[in-house]
Amino acid sequence: MRKPNKIPITRPTLRPFSSYARHFKRSINSGLLTTNAYVKEFEEKLAKRLGVRNVVAVSSCTAGLMLVMRGLGLTGEVIMPSFTFSASGLPLAWNGLTPVFADIDLATFTVDPKAVEKLISPRTSAIFATHVFGVPCNIDALTRIAKKHKLKLIFDAAHAFGSTYKGKPIGSFGDAEVFSTSPTKVLTTGEGGIVATNNDTLAAYVRKGRNYGDDGTEAIPHAGLSARMSEFHAAIGIISLSDLTKNLKRRLDQAAHLKRQLHALEPRLKFQTIPPDTKTTYKDFSIYVDPAILGYTRDDLQTFFDSRGIVTRKYFFPPLHRHATYQHARKGSLTITTIVAENVLSLPLYSHISRTDINRIIREFKTFVHDRKKS
Ligand SMILES: *Cc1c(COP(=O)(O)O)cnc(C)c1O
Repeated sequence: MRKPNKIPITRPTLRPFSSYARHFKRSINSGLLTTNAYVKEFEEKLAKRLGVRNVVAVSSCTAGLMLVMRGLGLTGEVIMPSFTFSASGLPLAWNGLTPVFADIDLATFTVDPKAVEKLISPRTSAIFATHVFGVPCNIDALTRIAKKHKLKLIFDAAHAFGSTYKGKPIGSFGDAEVFSTSPTKVLTTGEGGIVATNNDTLAAYVRKGRNYGDDGTEAIPHAGLSARMSEFHAAIGIISLSDLTKNLKRRLDQAAHLKRQLHALEPRLKFQTIPPDTKTTYKDFSIYVDPAILGYTRDDLQTFFDSRGIVTRKYFFPPLHRHATYQHARKGSLTITTIVAENVLSLPLYSHISRTDINRIIREFKTFVHDRKKS
């Protein structure tokens, strides 16, 4: 029997090359390859879509966060979840800030505001929260805590372009929200990041900061980065943005079908809770495998899927507090973080995945469940 093709965990949803060609040609012919007309157009369209005063396109989410944290003058400790992508802690490391890891909510996998408040010390300067897999954090509670304790509030919104909280797009909350447009994200530019903020001073800082810190006089009052977005990346982003509504809809439809069918096959399987007043992007489709209830582990299921050519990922394992880079961190109790990091598995999902492939994942899961019952 011929081995079926591998189903990748994700792929960027792109148009045929001809859609990009004339934009690349125009950039080449203009002789202006970075932070020019396409970047400006991309930023304007993003600001409009997000309903935010300022958008600054940068070379990555990581670079955007490095500049935002520097621009807000953060010092000492920053409270953040340990259950987030391993790179989320890097902007702290590069700014000499100490991460303080707070536990998460068992249902939504986002940082638990009560755990955050307990960890506030005289050295705390900010709360830095991730919208996990596109599910918005408890923004109201975090905003209240940040105001009460005079802390800055920043969101790692890498997963959440297209998510909403109480009807408002993610992008305008806190002091700043930073998106990634790397190829695994729903909105993509190839590589890139987007800083969204209603703080004009911060936006001006990031704008200079992405260009070495140059204030326009070639003086460098602050140490910036080389973190511009090229015209080619912005052109890809403009097209990705115009396809976003359609792509999100396809993605959410596939996720709903997958969730329904998996639940029908195994009603005791758990899923990330999406609070009723929010919309997620399903940047990742994550299942929660409780071995005490199901009699098998997340790792058993991953090994099985792997043998069937279905690529899955243990997002986010190990959690940050177990990485050597973050050993200097302070931390609260991370009981739920540990359990969730050990039990969740992300299944393949991308905007143009076929229903055939989704059904193959469902069929293989059915085989797995049946084999378990027999043995
Ligand atoms: C992808 C990702 C990042 C890093 O984004 P880059 O644009 O590659 O720097 C940061 N945080 C989270 C949660 C991510 O998923």
